[in-house]
Amino acid sequence: MIQKLIRRILGTKKKNTGDGTQPVVLTAAEHRIDPKLVSSNAIRVTSTLQQAGFKAFLVGGAVRDLLLGVKPKDFDIATNATPEQVKKLFRRAFIIGRRFQIVHVMFGQDLLEVTTFRGTAVDSAPKDEHGRVLRDNTFGEQHEDALRRDFTINAMYYDPASQTVLDYHGGMTDIRNKTLRIIGVPEARYREDPVRLLRVVRFAAKLNFTIAEETRAPISVMAPLINNVPAARVFDEMLKLLLSGHALACLQQLRKEGLHHGLLPLLDVVLEQPLGEKFVRLALEATDARVKQGKPVSPGFLFASLLWHQVLEKWKAYQAAGEYPIPALHLAADDVLNTQTDKLALQRKIATDMRDIWAMQPRFDRRVGKTPYKLLEHQRLRAGYDFLLLRCESGEIDREIGDWWTDFIAADGAGREELLAKKPALKSTGKAIAGETDDAAPAPAKKRRRRGGRNRNRQNNDASSADKSE
Ligand code: ATP
Ligand code: MG
Repeated sequence: MIQKLIRRILGTKKKNTGDGTQPVVLTAAEHRIDPKLVSSNAIRVTSTLQQAGFKAFLVGGAVRDLLLGVKPKDFDIATNATPEQVKKLFRRAFIIGRRFQIVHVMFGQDLLEVTTFRGTAVDSAPKDEHGRVLRDNTFGEQHEDALRRDFTINAMYYDPASQTVLDYHGGMTDIRNKTLRIIGVPEARYREDPVRLLRVVRFAAKLNFTIAEETRAPISVMAPLINNVPAARVFDEMLKLLLSGHALACLQQLRKEGLHHGLLPLLDVVLEQPLGEKFVRLALEATDARVKQGKPVSPGFLFASLLWHQVLEKWKAYQAAGEYPIPALHLAADDVLNTQTDKLALQRKIATDMRDIWAMQPRFDRRVGKTPYKLLEHQRLRAGYDFLLLRCESGEIDREIGDWWTDFIAADGAGREELLAKKPALKSTGKAIAGETDDAAPAPAKKRRRRGGRNRNRQNNDASSADKSE
């Protein structure tokens, strides 16, 4: 009876017509969303919009997570109000975005994204030569907005006031069957936005859903399309993948779908290096654990871990070519960062963090004199030390060095002196890879290559100061 009444008010049908223009309406008894999982600020936004005469719903990942009984990490809101109309209704609201305008509504630290229903992509929308849609910012009806979303499970709308869910593309059935299904013709949807290839992998791994066959089949064939996407967007999506709390599962899924090949240089390297694989696995396990505990994760640390074994390989090669260890390490870091930034727009801050973490590693070898005390003052000691422990755990270097630093960091003044006295000899962490030389060893007989030596030392006086301090 109540269901009928709601359907009559909303003008919706019970059965999905299959063309996506009429939603299935699910009542509280059917969808069983726990209203306690909905943030009060999200309700403030939807009710303010509704009281002003607009339609307003929670949408996307928040509804999907609510249906799965999971507390959403953020809440997106979809409305038929234009960005200007939304902005007027809230004290702290900011219109952002060039390609698609959306409104950020802030309550204290809490940020809610409000998006106006978007219209169906028109054929005349500008595209690149591969069919990727470049600009397309028309407003539209709710059913058009649903059609433009990526997966059936991401295209449901929840109205907290009436506690109903509108389902345009059979998302509820797919949730129940744990199926990830793209809306529309998969090939066309990947072509208009190849980032969706990465999104399939992320959601399948994160939710532990099976990818519907039609959705899965074109993935490996269409993977090269990712190369035409601006690096900054790929980076954003990769970061979401790596910080999803399911990074390891995501990377395994990427490999399963053949998406790591030629997709990003990063993944080629990470997934095809047996030596580095254990290191990466440990780093991702640690990252996933931190995300699940709600602890912050540093993207710099993450990318430094993913690329470490590539750096190691090049570090070794530069030393074999006659470079001193420290400049050789900086040259290796340059090479790796340059290759990556072509396709993966690593922000400057992240690249700096990565470089700092790598540059600190040979400094942990030097357990004499004042050097260890200097390292204690390094503002990224924690990250560098955590990285060192990963290297120990992966078997790359002797566990003893990690233990020594654990003790040294925890010890008081006398304890530290004792540790230094106990460990007067230098012990190289990099023997296996650093061509049997450590940075206190005599200079190699070969002539030094000036390029890296001089420039890198100047740019990264961090590691080079350790070099000089002895
Ligand atoms: P998460 O919980 O991981 O953030 P999400 O579903 O909220 O998952 P977002 O990237 O935040 O993912 O995107 C929000 C919503 O916007 C999605 O649920 C989907 O409906 C839509 N969306 C995002 N990116 C795309 C895309 N590339 N193509 C089509 N729809 C998209
Ligand atoms: Mg989201």
